Amino acid sequence: MRDAHVVVIPGDGIGPEVVSSGVEVLYRTSELYGPGLRLTERMLGGGSIDRFGEPCTDEVFQDALDADTVLLGAVGGPKWDDAQAKFTPEEGVLRLRSGLGLYANVRPVRVYDALVGQSPLRSEIVRGTDLVIVRELTGGLYFGEPKEMRMVGGEPAAVDTLLYRRSEVERIVRHAFGWASGRRRKVLSVDKFNVLISGRFWRDIATEVAGEYPGIEFSTMLADSFAAALIQRPTDWDVVVTENTFGDFLSDEAGVFTGSLGMLPSASLGDGSHALYEPVHGSAPDIVGERIANPIATILSVAMMFRHSFGKPEAASAIELAVEQALNDGFRTRDITEPDAYIVDTESMTEAIIARIEGPKAR
Ligand code: NAD
Repeated sequence: MRDAHVVVIPGDGIGPEVVSSGVEVLYRTSELYGPGLRLTERMLGGGSIDRFGEPCTDEVFQDALDADTVLLGAVGGPKWDDAQAKFTPEEGVLRLRSGLGLYANVRPVRVYDALVGQSPLRSEIVRGTDLVIVRELTGGLYFGEPKEMRMVGGEPAAVDTLLYRRSEVERIVRHAFGWASGRRRKVLSVDKFNVLISGRFWRDIATEVAGEYPGIEFSTMLADSFAAALIQRPTDWDVVVTENTFGDFLSDEAGVFTGSLGMLPSASLGDGSHALYEPVHGSAPDIVGERIANPIATILSVAMMFRHSFGKPEAASAIELAVEQALNDGFRTRDITEPDAYIVDTESMTEAIIARIEGPKAR
């Protein structure tokens, strides 16, 4: 394989701190497993607004389009929270996601044994949780038109539209089946079949697509029932696919199980080769510069990059195993600390993980 071109976007707040960890892991893993790397660092978000007057310049957009993949830290912060401002930092990320055709947001939620005590759920319920939420990212209620204020019956009213085209549902459900085939071979499709026409449409298409994958177990559930079942039986689920709004809520709910936002990686993917990998957390302005940010979410996002963009599942597993071993050996950043833990800063946690990434021959 030729060198992989990765556009690296540290972003705002703790973004540069965690992305620097991600880049160290990228380099070390590429030394052990390939591919060769070419990294280009670019600005996006608040920093880009300050410097260029917009959150994503055409140059950065074109670089992301030309690259094999993008690693992003986080954007935003109080400095850019002005409601009157022309742009928000988040618009930079949205431009990248929509321009690169990234319609699937994939969020794995794994509760490591070493961190079971950090979860707000009881250990016996949460131990062994390992699921992936595949959220449709570019359609549904957040993007449907019309989206407007209007007068209804002589008074002001607001309208949002939940619209899905057949092709949009088909491709996200197929995407979920693709993930399930490399995992425990179970897909759950979540909708509001009972009250939404779009929910009935979604369920019909999901069920039809499921017929193409006879080796994968398929089930459906109402979004409200699943929100409850997810807390009661988090270990029951493998891959969960759902529309944009439900996916937003449910992935945040599931994310809480891990005990810290600093543990949650994500990938935004499409049909082409483009992909954007980023931790789920934001720019954490309350801890910026303290060197205590947990780099694991970003490091696990890099593992996803090796698996999905570089076709190197063994490299991805080596990173994931190294994270698990560092946790088992007692290394903790402050957000996941517990009695008798060895509290380390961002850099030391990164070093502990890198030291545990084993090469192909040693394993
Ligand atoms: P946040 O995720 O930045 O922080 C929430 C809490 O989690 C904070 O207490 C923070 O210290 C902690 N936290 C987050 N990541 C951590 C890590 N890696 N290690 C240790 N602790 C961590 O969410 P917020 O405070 O609601 O948002 C802050 C800013 O980030 C806002 O401007 C928001 O718009 C932006 N944001 C950006 C993205 C993105 O870039 N995709 C996502 C979410 C929020």
